[in-house]
Amino acid sequence: MSTQKLGFEETLGRHILPDKCIGCCACIIVCPFKSLEYVERRPALVRECRSCGICVKVCPKFETSTADLERFIFGRERGGGEDFGVHNRIVIARSRDERILRRCQDGGAVTSILTFALKNGIVEGAIVSGIDREEPLKPTPKIIDDADELLECAGTRYTYSPNLLALKKAVIEGRGNLAFVGTPCQITAIRKMGKAGLKRYSEKVNLLIGLFCSECFTYKGLIKEYIIGKLGIDPYRIEKMNIKGKLIIKLKDGSVTSSSLKELRRYRDNCGSCPDYSAELSDISAGGVGLDGWTLLISRSIRGEEILKAAEKEGFLKVIRAEENMKPINLLRRLSRRKRERNT
Ligand SMILES: Cc1cc2nc3c(=O)[nH]c(=O)nc-3n(C[C@H](O)[C@H](O)[C@H](O)COP(=O)(O)OP(=O)(O)OC[C@H]3O[C@@H](n4cnc5c(N)ncnc54)[C@H](O)[C@@H]3O)c2cc1C
Repeated sequence: MSTQKLGFEETLGRHILPDKCIGCCACIIVCPFKSLEYVERRPALVRECRSCGICVKVCPKFETSTADLERFIFGRERGGGEDFGVHNRIVIARSRDERILRRCQDGGAVTSILTFALKNGIVEGAIVSGIDREEPLKPTPKIIDDADELLECAGTRYTYSPNLLALKKAVIEGRGNLAFVGTPCQITAIRKMGKAGLKRYSEKVNLLIGLFCSECFTYKGLIKEYIIGKLGIDPYRIEKMNIKGKLIIKLKDGSVTSSSLKELRRYRDNCGSCPDYSAELSDISAGGVGLDGWTLLISRSIRGEEILKAAEKEGFLKVIRAEENMKPINLLRRLSRRKRERNT
């Protein structure tokens, strides 16, 4: 579809919003006329659309050519055997900081890389997802410039966190040289901004860390209806939630509850049209893929590899070669293929 003179309603409004939009907010932040706002987790047209077509260029769900983006970012398309995208190196990593290990989701590699980058001035701030003090399982986009604050944001919230809203705030505040942590759709949106020449956003982000993602759930469904409503669990009693083939909820009193993913199907967000499991366009991708207490990291860009190597050298991360344990790589390959086959 030619998007030259098309407005929001004829494009994203008609083809994405009804059942594909995840509420990443890319369209909202780039609209030069402030015509879109975030209303009930989705973009809503609140002022006349001038049909400039800019929102259409950045939506991760609309006419995305992964091959074009790979050439733009990495200078080449993925080769045969690169089922999970262009990459340099795959490692299994674990933080060397006990405080991070106590709060993180898997091996704390994401928080450790960000801590290293902040402490060494490689980035001046990090956009992550933190927690809401009033509703502790609700993800809240945050701009962080202090390593201690990062620690509070470690761990995974399995409901959608529109981190691009924090990018907009950071840009308005005149910040730059930022790291950004997000799901594959958010990473794709930032890369599309770069390819569309929207430097106001894309040039402010110097390190993109993408999280593996099978799917996201809605806060209303997973947390309010299921965990609080059906299971009767007070969110303040939860120590950690994890999805490893099933949903595992560990409470602060040491007890553990688990639920089958089938039971949670109805609380899924609009992830059904996303083909990207391992954030294939990021500088570094991170996931747990069945590991216990370790994070699988994929360095994809030269910058990603340099930062990963430096974080290891400076003692922030313990790193082992992923080839020493092929199980997570095989799982990554299988899950990446499956998501792409189902959703393209
Ligand atoms: C919605 C979702 C689905 C996921 N699905 C899978 C999966 O299917 N398979 C898999 O192997 N891994 C999955 N992951 C990634 C995994 O849960 C860990 O984030 C990853 O292994 C890194 O672990 P870590 O201990 O190194 O991260 P940590 O050091 O704990 O840091 C985690 C970082 O993630 C950020 N974050 C937390 N919640 C969100 C959110 N909702 N949106 C954006 N950023 C967030 C935090 O701010 C923090 O910076 C998923 C993550 C999310 C958010």
